[in-house]
Amino acid sequence: MRILALALLMILFCGCMEQPQEVAENNQSGTSPHRENISTLQAPAPVDSGMGCEYGNPGCGDEYECRGNRCVLKQGCEFSYPRCPRGYSCENNSCIFIQDEGHPGCYYDDSLCGDREFCVNNNCVESAIKEHPGCGFNEVLVEGECTDASYTIHFVSNGLTSEEFDELVGNSVAAFVYHTPLVKCPEKLRVHKSFQPCREGNSFLAGGTENVTVYLYNRSETFTECSIASHHLVSISVEDMETAAATSVHELGHSLGLWDQYCYWPVPENPNPVDFEKAGCSLLEEGDCMFSYCSNPDRLPEGTAPHKCIGNSNYLGGVTVMGLRADPSRVYSSHPKFGFTESGYEYVAEKITCN
Ligand SMILES: [Zn+2]
Repeated sequence: MRILALALLMILFCGCMEQPQEVAENNQSGTSPHRENISTLQAPAPVDSGMGCEYGNPGCGDEYECRGNRCVLKQGCEFSYPRCPRGYSCENNSCIFIQDEGHPGCYYDDSLCGDREFCVNNNCVESAIKEHPGCGFNEVLVEGECTDASYTIHFVSNGLTSEEFDELVGNSVAAFVYHTPLVKCPEKLRVHKSFQPCREGNSFLAGGTENVTVYLYNRSETFTECSIASHHLVSISVEDMETAAATSVHELGHSLGLWDQYCYWPVPENPNPVDFEKAGCSLLEEGDCMFSYCSNPDRLPEGTAPHKCIGNSNYLGGVTVMGLRADPSRVYSSHPKFGFTESGYEYVAEKITCN
C-alpha cells in the first residue's frame, strides 16, 4: 500500500460572513423573528451643530436613514440579512409566516419527509449513502463489480454526537447529489465516515488521494484536539444542524474548484466570476470584516480594488451556493431556491460525470 505523504492541509478560510452571527434562528412558533427590530448606529452623535447626517455630513447611504441626526440602519426584513427565517417570507418589509396553503413542500413543513429522507430544494429525497463491501477507497460496487467512483467524500466528525453526525452527513450528501450530475448516478458516489477518529490520538490521516475530506466540528465537551491530513480538506464549524448542510455543499463546491462569489476577484483563473452588475457588489473598505479575506493578495491583482458581492442568482432565483451566506436561499439546502448558478453547475459537471 502506498503511504500517503500528503500533509496538505487546505483549510478554506471563508471569512466572517460564512459563519455569520446574524443567521436567524429557526422560528416555527409564529412569533416575530428576532432580527426584525435590530438597529445599529453607523456614526456617533454629533457634538457640534452643523455636523451629522441632517446636514449631509456624513451621508447615510441606501441602507441607513438619518434619525435624530444619526445614521441608523433601516429596520425591517428588506434591510436585514437573512431577510427572514425558514418558513417566513419578507412582505411589505415584515417577516410573514408562510401558510401551508399554496406553499406545499417540506421546506414549509418538515414533517413531510420520512425517517430516511432529507428535505432538499423543498423535496424529500433519500440519502445516497451505501455500503460498498470489498471495494477500494475510491471505488463503488455497481452491479456486483467494483468500479471507479465519480467522487469520493470522507466525512470526519469531532465534537458532534453520532446522531448529529449521521444526520448531517446524510443531509449534506442528499443536497450535494441533488445539485450535481450525481443526481443521475447516485450509486457512483463513495462516502466514508469517521466518527471522532482522534479520540485515541491527536492526528488523523484521511485515506485516498482523490477524495475530499469534510471535517465537521463543534467545540462541545466532546471536542478533542485533532489535526487532519488529507489530500483536500474543508472544515465546517457546525453551529446549527439546519444550516450546516448548505455550508457542506458550499465547501464541496470549493473542493471541485469553485471560488466564493461574495468576493469579487476579477482574475482570469477565477472559474466562478460574478456578473458585477447583477451580483450586488460594492467596494470594500478597510475595517469591513470581509476586507482582509476579499483582498487576499494571492488572488487579487495588485492595484485592483477589492469588492464584496452577494453573488449571482441561480436558475431558481435564489443566491448561488457560492454566494453570501445571508439570504435564506443560500443558508438552507431545503430552501426552494437553493442551488448553484448555471455556469457553476456546468463547471462542477466537468469534474463529476456519471461515466
Ligand atoms: Zn467559501
